[in-house]
This record gives sequence, structure tokens and C-alpha cells, in this order.
Amino acid sequence: MNRIEAKGFTLIELMIVVVIIGILAAIAIPKFEDVTNSARYAACRSNLRNIAGALEFYAAENGNYPGAFQGHKWRELTYFSDYVQTEMRCPSTMAAYRFRISGRNYQYFWVRGWNGACKRNHGMYKRSVYVQ
Ligand SMILES: [Zn+2]
Repeated sequence: MNRIEAKGFTLIELMIVVVIIGILAAIAIPKFEDVTNSARYAACRSNLRNIAGALEFYAAENGNYPGAFQGHKWRELTYFSDYVQTEMRCPSTMAAYRFRISGRNYQYFWVRGWNGACKRNHGMYKRSVYVQ
């Protein structure tokens, strides 16, 4: 019987394959996390824009922004729930959103996720009001 005819892989060959798979996984997993985070960032910014758009709709139909001249408080979306989905949340922190009419003459509004991590990572959305 010829010794060289042994079939299959040696332990060393299998270990090399396992190490290569480990290296590939170490490269790929952080990339997947980046993709996930950037998708969540984009979804959160999209929510902020949609809420701002809903505020504009509200102002176009009602001649003013919801709660505009009642101080500069942050308000929940329930203030204009006919125009926006109040259950909308940040996809990564699950924070609810709030908006605020601001400026000395109420000339702009802000929208943000009501959570420090969302505000830090996804920022706030600012837009000038067009109804005075
Ligand atoms: Zn967010």
C-alpha cells in the first residue's frame, strides 16, 4: 500500500483555512456595522425631514405652525397628529421625535430625536418658517 495515497486534509491545512475564515470575518463584520449605522443615520435624517415637511403642511393648511406662539418649548408630534405618524421613532435609539418653533420672531423650527444619543449621532433638523 502506498502511503502517499492518503486522502483528505491535514490538521495544519484545516487550521490554515480556519485562520483565513477568521481574518475575513474580522474584516467583514465591522464593515457590516458601518453599513447598518449609515442606513440608520439615513433613516433617522429622513424621519426628521418628513416631520419638517409635515409641519409645513400643517402651516400651509392652518396659517401657522402647531403651538407656534406658545413659547419655545419642545413639543411632541401629537400636536399635529393629523399630519404625521406620532409613533415614528429613531431606528437606532428608538427615541421619539419632538419639534420646537424658535427664534426671536419664531422664524425657524427645529426637529430632533428626543434622546441624547440620537441628537449626538443624527443631529437636529432646522428649517426656516415661511408663515409669519
Ligand atoms: Zn436618530
